[in-house]
Amino acid sequence: MERYSLLNLLRHARSHHENWQPAWRDPEPKPAYDVVIVGGGGHGLATAYYLAKRHGATNVAVVEKGWLGGGNTGRNTTIVRSNYLREEAAHLYEFALKLWEGLSVELNFNVMFSPRGVLNLGHSLQDMRDIERRVNANRLNGIDGEVLTPAEVQAKAPLINCSPTARYPVLGASWQPRGGVARHDAVAWGYARAADALGVDLLQHTEVVDIRVEGGRAKGVETSRGFIKADKVACVAAGHSSLLAAMAGLRLPIESRPLQALASEPLKPCLDTVVMSNAVHCYISQSDKGDLVIGAGTDAYNGYGQRGSFHVLEHAIQAVCELFPAFSRVRMNRQWGGIVDICPDACPIIGTTPVRGLYFNCGWGTGGFKSTPGSGYVFADTVANDRPHPLAAPFALERFHTGALIDEHGAAGVAH
Ligand SMILES: Cc1cc2nc3c(=O)[nH]c(=O)nc-3n(C[C@H](O)[C@H](O)[C@H](O)COP(=O)(O)OP(=O)(O)OC[C@H]3O[C@@H](n4cnc5c(N)ncnc54)[C@H](O)[C@@H]3O)c2cc1C
Repeated sequence: MERYSLLNLLRHARSHHENWQPAWRDPEPKPAYDVVIVGGGGHGLATAYYLAKRHGATNVAVVEKGWLGGGNTGRNTTIVRSNYLREEAAHLYEFALKLWEGLSVELNFNVMFSPRGVLNLGHSLQDMRDIERRVNANRLNGIDGEVLTPAEVQAKAPLINCSPTARYPVLGASWQPRGGVARHDAVAWGYARAADALGVDLLQHTEVVDIRVEGGRAKGVETSRGFIKADKVACVAAGHSSLLAAMAGLRLPIESRPLQALASEPLKPCLDTVVMSNAVHCYISQSDKGDLVIGAGTDAYNGYGQRGSFHVLEHAIQAVCELFPAFSRVRMNRQWGGIVDICPDACPIIGTTPVRGLYFNCGWGTGGFKSTPGSGYVFADTVANDRPHPLAAPFALERFHTGALIDEHGAAGVAH
């Protein structure tokens, strides 16, 4: 294709960023599609891509009320790992991690996946027991993991305060070498460009205001640009999923809360792993631009304001200074929030619903960026075949009736 050629690349490099071709079309909505995907975040775009690529479904639209990747996809702290405790979750996240490893090649777009390793610190005997249990479970599931001593932690991240007299002394850590970070915008753009090239319509600034259901079956979506008929409606709207479910007369076991993050001024390279600590409640990495990317906790109340409370932010900064005293001199540049959708067992909901032709993929809470490729892959398969993909089956909505919950609060104890 002409737009991916080397000549084109050189022309753009010399053009002072002028005359760039749009990476995807800006089509008018068609009156009807086979599948309408609600939500143009990474998960929705990945779903569209795999529907077109793997299932030959190209009469598909992604309907996004804002801009592509402007929700949690563009607001997260980009940590990617698969070291979850429970078998069901471990297999799903590991499947996603394997897709991450080949994603730039798959999409012909650099998503800047950087497997720089993830440290989960332990600060008490119980923390270390939990870490050992999780690493053992991971290894039994074929997932890489090691238990590190404080000296080994110090060697990987020399700026961490590993003094035994620290308020929360570092007693060790779990280490997943294949974990790391990726560029969040690039993931959305890569999937968007590839889905568009396969014929998917990406409809930005188009809000779904109602879901039409007749005779127990989804018929399409009412949008700010008119009604769009659809054989299947697939909702992937993160923190706004309960609102969409209510439009179809469904109630989801989800709480929507603000989760904040912040980024510092750029620094010379000083932290080349991801560091997470449940006890001190801190997760931090250094971006390729040099800024420290820091995650805070969720607010204690439900809400849709993408800001969050100041005291939560203050707590996050205290935690960073506790672990990395040298960072107390660093200035913060900006702060933002996103609305995360939290399930009671800290696991997602993926699958069919009591309304025929209506599907939901949500509840990823504070940790769904890492699953973006895997989530899109299994959800596309679920929508295409009208039954759960085997990796998605344990995450069906029915688990809240049967009680077969998958408790991952241990692995998601710190927002990430
Ligand atoms: C501060 C923060 C830090 C995080 N850190 C991490 C991390 O380090 N690692 C990790 O794995 N996860 C992390 N997460 C979680 C992660 O960002 C999400 O789980 C993931 O990005 C969800 O992707 P998505 O595509 O489902 O949602 P989104 O990217 O939010 O996309 C949903 C889209 O739906 C659209 N939408 C909503 N309602 C409508 C409507 N009515 N009509 C049309 N469109 C609609 C929204 O505008 C939005 O663009 C973090 C989240 C936050 C907020």
